[in-house]
Amino acid sequence: MGDIWVLRIGHRPERDKRVTTHVALTARALGAKGIYVDTADPVLEENIRSTVQRFGGDFTIKTGVAWDDVIGSFKGKIVHLTMYGQRADIAIPRIPTDEDILVIVGATKVPMCIYERADFNVSVGNQPHSEISAMAIFLYVYTGGKHLYEYREGGEIAVVPNERGKTVVENRR
Ligand code: SAM
Repeated sequence: MGDIWVLRIGHRPERDKRVTTHVALTARALGAKGIYVDTADPVLEENIRSTVQRFGGDFTIKTGVAWDDVIGSFKGKIVHLTMYGQRADIAIPRIPTDEDILVIVGATKVPMCIYERADFNVSVGNQPHSEISAMAIFLYVYTGGKHLYEYREGGEIAVVPNERGKTVVENRR
Protein backbone atom coordinates (compact mmCIF):
# COMPACT_ATOMS: atom_id res chain seq x y z
CA MET A 1 0.00 0.00 0.00
CA GLY A 2 1.22 3.55 -0.75
CA ASP A 3 1.68 6.20 1.90
CA ILE A 4 -1.22 8.30 3.16
CA TRP A 5 -0.77 12.04 3.73
CA VAL A 6 -3.35 14.55 4.98
CA LEU A 7 -3.70 18.21 4.05
CA ARG A 8 -5.77 20.44 6.33
CA ILE A 9 -6.98 23.63 4.60
CA GLY A 10 -8.35 26.73 6.33
CA HIS A 11 -6.94 26.08 9.82
CA ARG A 12 -7.51 29.01 12.20
CA PRO A 13 -5.19 28.43 15.18
CA GLU A 14 -7.43 29.94 17.86
CA ARG A 15 -10.73 28.60 16.65
CA ASP A 16 -9.70 25.23 15.25
CA LYS A 17 -6.92 24.14 17.58
CA ARG A 18 -8.86 21.26 19.11
CA VAL A 19 -10.39 20.01 15.88
CA THR A 20 -7.13 20.20 13.92
CA THR A 21 -5.30 18.44 16.76
CA HIS A 22 -7.87 15.67 16.51
CA VAL A 23 -7.59 15.54 12.72
CA ALA A 24 -3.83 14.98 13.16
CA LEU A 25 -4.18 12.40 15.97
CA THR A 26 -6.85 10.52 14.04
CA ALA A 27 -4.79 10.56 10.85
CA ARG A 28 -1.85 9.12 12.83
CA ALA A 29 -3.96 6.47 14.58
CA LEU A 30 -5.42 5.30 11.27
CA GLY A 31 -2.08 4.97 9.51
CA ALA A 32 -1.26 8.28 7.78
CA LYS A 33 2.44 9.17 7.48
CA GLY A 34 1.91 12.85 8.23
CA ILE A 35 -0.16 15.99 7.99
CA TYR A 36 0.30 19.36 6.31
CA VAL A 37 -1.57 22.32 7.78
CA ASP A 38 -1.84 25.56 5.83
CA THR A 39 -1.53 28.03 8.73
CA ALA A 40 1.59 28.18 10.89
CA ASP A 41 0.83 26.80 14.36
CA PRO A 42 3.88 25.93 16.50
CA VAL A 43 1.71 24.87 19.46
CA LEU A 44 -0.13 22.33 17.32
CA GLU A 45 3.20 21.02 15.99
CA GLU A 46 4.57 20.67 19.51
CA ASN A 47 1.48 18.79 20.75
CA ILE A 48 1.54 16.30 17.90
CA ARG A 49 5.31 15.73 18.15
CA SER A 50 4.94 15.11 21.85
CA THR A 51 2.33 12.40 21.15
CA VAL A 52 4.66 10.81 18.59
CA GLN A 53 7.53 10.86 21.08
CA ARG A 54 5.42 9.17 23.76
CA PHE A 55 3.52 6.68 21.61
CA GLY A 56 6.01 6.07 18.78
CA GLY A 57 5.88 5.83 15.03
CA ASP A 58 7.19 8.26 12.45
CA PHE A 59 4.18 10.55 11.90
CA THR A 60 5.25 14.04 10.81
CA ILE A 61 3.54 17.42 10.96
CA LYS A 62 4.33 20.55 8.97
CA THR A 63 2.33 23.74 9.44
CA GLY A 64 2.45 27.04 7.55
CA VAL A 65 2.57 25.33 4.16
CA ALA A 66 1.16 26.75 0.94
CA TRP A 67 -1.55 24.22 0.09
CA ASP A 68 -1.20 24.72 -3.67
CA ASP A 69 2.52 23.85 -3.40
CA VAL A 70 1.69 20.68 -1.45
CA ILE A 71 -0.90 19.66 -4.04
CA GLY A 72 1.29 20.71 -6.99
CA SER A 73 4.32 18.71 -5.85
CA PHE A 74 2.42 15.66 -4.58
CA LYS A 75 3.22 12.45 -6.46
CA GLY A 76 0.11 10.35 -6.11
CA LYS A 77 -3.64 10.74 -6.07
CA ILE A 78 -5.44 13.69 -4.49
CA VAL A 79 -8.56 12.73 -2.51
CA HIS A 80 -10.77 15.59 -1.35
CA LEU A 81 -13.38 14.77 1.30
CA THR A 82 -16.57 16.77 0.82
CA MET A 83 -20.24 16.06 1.40
CA TYR A 84 -20.81 17.07 -2.25
CA GLY A 85 -18.52 14.35 -3.58
CA GLN A 86 -19.08 10.95 -5.08
CA ARG A 87 -20.45 8.25 -2.77
CA ALA A 88 -17.72 6.67 -0.66
CA ASP A 89 -18.85 3.14 -1.48
CA ILE A 90 -18.41 3.88 -5.20
CA ALA A 91 -15.31 6.12 -5.01
CA ILE A 92 -13.10 4.27 -2.51
CA PRO A 93 -12.75 1.03 -4.51
CA ARG A 94 -11.57 3.19 -7.45
CA ILE A 95 -8.76 4.84 -5.49
CA PRO A 96 -5.49 2.99 -6.14
CA THR A 97 -3.87 1.36 -3.10
CA ASP A 98 -0.43 1.04 -4.71
CA GLU A 99 0.12 4.80 -4.97
CA ASP A 100 0.47 7.51 -2.32
CA ILE A 101 -2.66 9.52 -1.57
CA LEU A 102 -3.13 13.03 -0.20
CA VAL A 103 -6.41 13.35 1.71
CA ILE A 104 -7.67 16.95 1.86
CA VAL A 105 -10.06 18.11 4.57
CA GLY A 106 -11.32 21.64 5.09
CA ALA A 107 -12.07 23.77 8.12
CA THR A 108 -14.01 26.56 6.44
CA LYS A 109 -15.30 26.71 2.88
CA VAL A 110 -12.82 24.97 0.59
CA PRO A 111 -11.81 26.86 -2.61
CA MET A 112 -13.55 25.58 -5.74
CA CYS A 113 -10.23 24.82 -7.44
CA ILE A 114 -9.65 22.01 -4.92
CA TYR A 115 -12.71 20.24 -6.36
CA GLU A 116 -11.14 20.56 -9.80
CA ARG A 117 -7.62 19.55 -8.83
CA ALA A 118 -8.74 16.50 -6.83
CA ASP A 119 -8.56 13.14 -8.58
CA PHE A 120 -11.42 12.02 -6.33
CA ASN A 121 -14.04 14.14 -4.53
CA VAL A 122 -15.41 11.70 -1.98
CA SER A 123 -18.41 12.11 0.31
CA VAL A 124 -18.85 10.16 3.51
CA GLY A 125 -22.61 10.44 3.43
CA ASN A 126 -24.36 13.47 1.94
CA GLN A 127 -24.95 15.22 5.27
CA PRO A 128 -22.60 17.78 6.79
CA HIS A 129 -20.67 16.42 9.77
CA SER A 130 -17.04 16.79 10.73
CA GLU A 131 -13.63 16.58 9.11
CA ILE A 132 -12.57 14.22 11.90
CA SER A 133 -15.41 11.77 11.36
CA ALA A 134 -15.23 12.01 7.56
CA MET A 135 -11.49 11.35 7.57
CA ALA A 136 -11.72 8.54 10.13
CA ILE A 137 -14.41 6.68 8.20
CA PHE A 138 -12.61 7.24 4.89
CA LEU A 139 -9.26 5.98 6.25
CA TYR A 140 -10.85 3.03 8.02
CA VAL A 141 -12.57 1.86 4.84
CA TYR A 142 -9.60 2.64 2.55
CA THR A 143 -7.11 0.74 4.74
CA GLY A 144 -9.48 -1.90 6.09
CA GLY A 145 -8.62 -0.68 9.59
CA LYS A 146 -5.27 -2.47 9.48
CA HIS A 147 -3.29 0.24 11.28
CA LEU A 148 -5.43 0.45 14.44
CA TYR A 149 -3.33 -1.91 16.57
CA GLU A 150 -0.02 -1.87 14.72
CA TYR A 151 3.20 -1.62 16.69
CA ARG A 152 4.69 1.90 16.68
CA GLU A 153 8.47 1.90 16.81
CA GLY A 154 10.41 4.15 19.17
CA GLY A 155 7.76 5.35 21.64
CA GLU A 156 8.24 5.75 25.37
CA ILE A 157 5.04 3.88 26.23
CA ALA A 158 2.51 1.59 24.59
CA VAL A 159 -1.07 0.80 25.51
CA VAL A 160 -1.92 -2.91 25.54
CA PRO A 161 -5.55 -3.63 24.65
CA ASN A 162 -7.37 -4.93 27.69
CA GLU A 163 -10.85 -6.22 28.38
CA ARG A 164 -11.02 -4.16 31.57
CA GLY A 165 -8.64 -1.70 33.22
CA LYS A 166 -5.65 0.08 31.74
CA THR A 167 -2.43 -1.63 30.71
CA VAL A 168 0.46 0.58 29.73
CA VAL A 169 3.99 -0.70 29.17
CA GLU A 170 7.15 1.36 29.15
CA ASN A 171 9.49 0.72 26.28
CA ARG A 172 13.05 0.10 27.40
CA ARG A 173 15.74 1.35 25.05
N1 SAM B 1 -18.89 24.84 5.62
C1 SAM B 1 -17.86 24.21 4.87
C2 SAM B 1 -18.21 24.19 3.40
O1 SAM B 1 -19.25 24.66 3.01
O2 SAM B 1 -17.39 23.65 2.62
C3 SAM B 1 -17.62 22.78 5.37
C4 SAM B 1 -17.10 22.72 6.74
S1 SAM B 1 -17.01 21.04 7.36
C5 SAM B 1 -17.26 21.23 9.05
C6 SAM B 1 -15.27 20.78 7.32
C7 SAM B 1 -14.81 19.63 6.47
O3 SAM B 1 -15.42 18.43 6.91
C8 SAM B 1 -15.14 19.71 5.01
O4 SAM B 1 -14.25 20.55 4.30
C9 SAM B 1 -14.96 18.25 4.59
O5 SAM B 1 -13.60 17.96 4.34
C10 SAM B 1 -15.41 17.49 5.84
N2 SAM B 1 -16.77 16.94 5.74
C11 SAM B 1 -17.86 17.32 6.44
N3 SAM B 1 -18.91 16.56 6.12
C12 SAM B 1 -18.49 15.67 5.19
C13 SAM B 1 -19.12 14.61 4.47
N4 SAM B 1 -20.40 14.31 4.61
N5 SAM B 1 -18.36 13.89 3.62
C14 SAM B 1 -17.04 14.17 3.45
N6 SAM B 1 -16.41 15.16 4.09
C15 SAM B 1 -17.11 15.90 4.96
